[in-house]
Amino acid sequence: MSTATLTIDLDALTTNWRMLDSVSADRVDTGAAIKANGYGLGMAPVAQALAQAGVRRFFVATAEEGAEARAALGDGPEINVFSGHMEGDAELLGQHALTPMINSADQLLRQLELLPGHPFGIQVDSGMNRLGMEPAEWDSLREIALSQNPTLIMSHLACADEPGHPMNYRQLQTFRGMTDGLPVKRSLAATGGILLGPEYHFDVTRPGVGLYGGMPFEEARPVVQVDLPVIQVRRVEAGESAGYGNTWTASQPATIATVSAGYADGIHRVLAPKTKLYAGEVACPIVGRISMDLITADISDLEEYVPETLSLLNSVQTVDILADNADTIGYEILTSLGARYARRFGPLA
Ligand SMILES: *Cc1c(COP(=O)(O)O)cnc(C)c1O
Repeated sequence: MSTATLTIDLDALTTNWRMLDSVSADRVDTGAAIKANGYGLGMAPVAQALAQAGVRRFFVATAEEGAEARAALGDGPEINVFSGHMEGDAELLGQHALTPMINSADQLLRQLELLPGHPFGIQVDSGMNRLGMEPAEWDSLREIALSQNPTLIMSHLACADEPGHPMNYRQLQTFRGMTDGLPVKRSLAATGGILLGPEYHFDVTRPGVGLYGGMPFEEARPVVQVDLPVIQVRRVEAGESAGYGNTWTASQPATIATVSAGYADGIHRVLAPKTKLYAGEVACPIVGRISMDLITADISDLEEYVPETLSLLNSVQTVDILADNADTIGYEILTSLGARYARRFGPLA
């Protein structure tokens, strides 16, 4: 088979959830963000494993994702939709018992008109200026919103991955100012916020990236491995080049392996110069440009034996190392992985 393999360790995923759960007090309910296809790993298996580990509140970006999550989870767990109640969403929200996080006066009116009596939460903007009601808007709507018993009031931190950033405390103060004393459960922290300390935990937390093994949760167990089948091996002489544009030329005789995966699999072209493929612990630098479906790597350091696959992502080259190589964040590496991989579940090699 020439399809690359994504191995997903669901035990590591649930271990990461338990570790993040244990950071907050017992009375705090630790949920899970499973938007974007479970951060690229697969919505259904991720949702089901987390539910089995004890997660009762899930968070997705859109009503369509919520419907997919409901199909995987069945009745029972709460599924919260960050984008709230958009025009055209009522049927999905109603049929799949999804809880929209209402972001504006328009959304609140739509909710009360089209889904009276259906649960909803409120998202307020504590300073990120991305989603949610601003303080003045919340002031004018809170009486009517509270009369309908919202399930949750939430907000999101802009700089939680930088513990020393003054924005964190500013947002905490704003959030408290908007919600202190209200008889509604509150949620402010994602992965980064959980690690900022107990005053950020409130009643419900919503970790995402830490579950999947990414920063800023340093102690996270790796959850994903990516293995790329070797299709061909060839010798090149000094002066020969490899790949589009002749961007790499051998300075000495070398052995080149061509593996089956490329930028269409989320292995961004910008990764090429710094990224290696691994045969066990042996690093084989990517040479030349990454193509849509193929990558060439210099395997000259391997003696005799050429493995059937080379690893892009493993315990040596982690999600966050790849992110650094591409000048991005682990979230983008994970959610770019794409649909072409064969997904396999089990322990990582
Ligand atoms: C994605 C997201 C989360 C999860 O964030 P992580 O940083 O991945 O833990 C939580 N809340 C909101 C509003 C989000 O958009």
